[in-house]
Amino acid sequence: MTDNKLSIDRPAIESLLTRRFFFAPSFGIYGGVAGLYDYGPTGTALQQNLINMWRQHFVIEEDMLEVDCSIMTPAEVLKTSGHVDKFADWMCKDTKSGDIFRADHLVEAVLEARLEGDVLARKLAGASIANADAAAAPADASGAKKDKKNKKKGGPVVATKLDDSVVAEYQNILAQIDNYDGEGLGELITRFDIRNPATGNEVTKPVEFNLMFDSSIGPTGQLKGYLRPETAQGQFLNFSRLLEFNNQKMPFASAMVGRSFRNEISPRQGLLRVREFTMAEIEHYVDPQNKDHPRFEEVADIKLSLLPGSVQLTGSTDTVQMTIRDAVAQGVIDNKTLGYFMGRIHLYLMSIGIKHELLRFRQHLNNEMAHYACDCWDAEIKNSYGWIECVGCADRSAYDLTVHSNRTNQKLCVRENLTEPHIYEKLVCEPNSKVFGPKLKRAAKPVLEHLEGMSPADLSAVKDALASDGKTTVTLAGSAADGTYEITTEMITIENKTITEYTREYTPNVIEPSFGIGRILYSLLEHSYSVRPDDEQRAVLSFNPAVAPFKCLILPLSNHASFKKPLLDVARRLRTNGVPARVDDAASVSIGRRYARNDELGTPFAITVDFDTAKDGTVTLRERDSTNQIRASIDEIVDMVKNLVAGSATWEDALSKYPAVSAAASD
Ligand code: AMP
Repeated sequence: MTDNKLSIDRPAIESLLTRRFFFAPSFGIYGGVAGLYDYGPTGTALQQNLINMWRQHFVIEEDMLEVDCSIMTPAEVLKTSGHVDKFADWMCKDTKSGDIFRADHLVEAVLEARLEGDVLARKLAGASIANADAAAAPADASGAKKDKKNKKKGGPVVATKLDDSVVAEYQNILAQIDNYDGEGLGELITRFDIRNPATGNEVTKPVEFNLMFDSSIGPTGQLKGYLRPETAQGQFLNFSRLLEFNNQKMPFASAMVGRSFRNEISPRQGLLRVREFTMAEIEHYVDPQNKDHPRFEEVADIKLSLLPGSVQLTGSTDTVQMTIRDAVAQGVIDNKTLGYFMGRIHLYLMSIGIKHELLRFRQHLNNEMAHYACDCWDAEIKNSYGWIECVGCADRSAYDLTVHSNRTNQKLCVRENLTEPHIYEKLVCEPNSKVFGPKLKRAAKPVLEHLEGMSPADLSAVKDALASDGKTTVTLAGSAADGTYEITTEMITIENKTITEYTREYTPNVIEPSFGIGRILYSLLEHSYSVRPDDEQRAVLSFNPAVAPFKCLILPLSNHASFKKPLLDVARRLRTNGVPARVDDAASVSIGRRYARNDELGTPFAITVDFDTAKDGTVTLRERDSTNQIRASIDEIVDMVKNLVAGSATWEDALSKYPAVSAAASD
């Protein structure tokens, strides 16, 4: 199973992230709360850069309509959207200690630990007895550390060989773990005797746990509300305004960046499963009869790494490499708009520095699909925790607009003028006003609406009953006029009529790319991390300049008084050129250590003021990854940094234009 995880020194990265305050548990001095994190200056700047690039790549590039809607949401909205009833995970409890687990995570962790125990047992069987003893029972301090590392959420890894058939069965289950519902998970728990790994106690049957945080609005507390679990609903409720704003033109997209809240059963894995997080969501509204995308050709030849549902159901996690064009043509990806957005998501993730080979798109299995979705692909990024869903790309069909429209009686649809009128025959019911109203009195309107809303088959049955018996009944339920009413031939006529329509009305389908910024940010941190080959203690975050929290470091060689003025001059010039820079003038710290600590922040460039600066007005410019340096005048270097940060020049350009200098002795 280790293949499924990025092999990297996670404790070292975590130590760096805490030390350099990328993020830390919220309310830490009160002991913290699981699943809540604060971002420090570096994490905040990094997050902001990811969001800015997202805005540029999607909102600006595609002329999307960005909105900012309320977080606090009345319960009625989320009842209608289905979240009150269905936005839940399966939870089980240790029958004695009361420890709580997310059922799928428990099954996954225990089966993974057993598979790792099997791998260990097979290894030991092939090793010498001495080695086997050492691995099985570590005696010294380093061994103890290794043992601790082996303790998984699924329990300690115990070397126990499994039958080949059991290994295959476990692997098959793990490949489709997201497809199990509560009952299915309950069966797995019983069949494989899955217990609380910490206590060995049995666990209860899984029960549903709704993930929304509830609240109440107003001083009387009568209006129940929830913190939104996604930003989407606010966008849907503004659909008509947005369509109007877009001059009734289709297709179009709305977008929002904002906080969402989910009361996760077991927050874990740092930023990957938290209870409050930043989402960036796009709702692209499209004609259900034409899900092509005008810019499809721009992404059609991008090759994606795809893990279709059909492959997962065979128990395999092998991806297929396919162009988006082929995947849509072969029906692997349902339509061109979905394919277009998968391509755009791929390009965005590449542009921020996610590694190509560590990105795949996995299709949701039927049971796993959210209640609103009819097809869904997750962009999963591999990090040290495994393949993690970082962007969901769902086809929500017309679900949300339809349910909100039905609930509120407000039209959330598109009306389009037809170039050719649409002429067709339809069974139509018309009341005889002299009889219909007086007979049914206050029920007249709801009964007529009921008849008009009938399917052609039901209306035809009413017509037949009237023809044969001269009367029939209709029953209304769910309104103030509930009851059974007699209808006679004098009251209505039901006839086939020729209808000519000059406009078409339809509810758009919604394709929704939904980005979890925290998960992307954490994965990017792991993909950017390395240590200097000659010194394991020196870590580097190789962010590209656009993403880096700080673009340029400015530092004096020492605390010599003559460095002060040029230092301030360089800082001012960078600032006026819009380049975020930091001065590190802790001159008691060697220049090498100052470079090193800024390498940990991922700062791509460093300008150093030294004794030659006072003489000839030149400074050095160092590039973080190569540690190469060039020398030129302050004007030239500031200009070069500006271009390097904007992406209009590369470090190779800088090297070919200006003389290289040997790195400072201490670098
Ligand atoms: P979903 O609506 O569940 O498809 O979530 C959309 C995106 O939000 C996912 O792709 C994740 O990147 C992110 N996300 C969902 N739940 C969490 C969580 N508990 N913590 C952090 N990110 C999350």
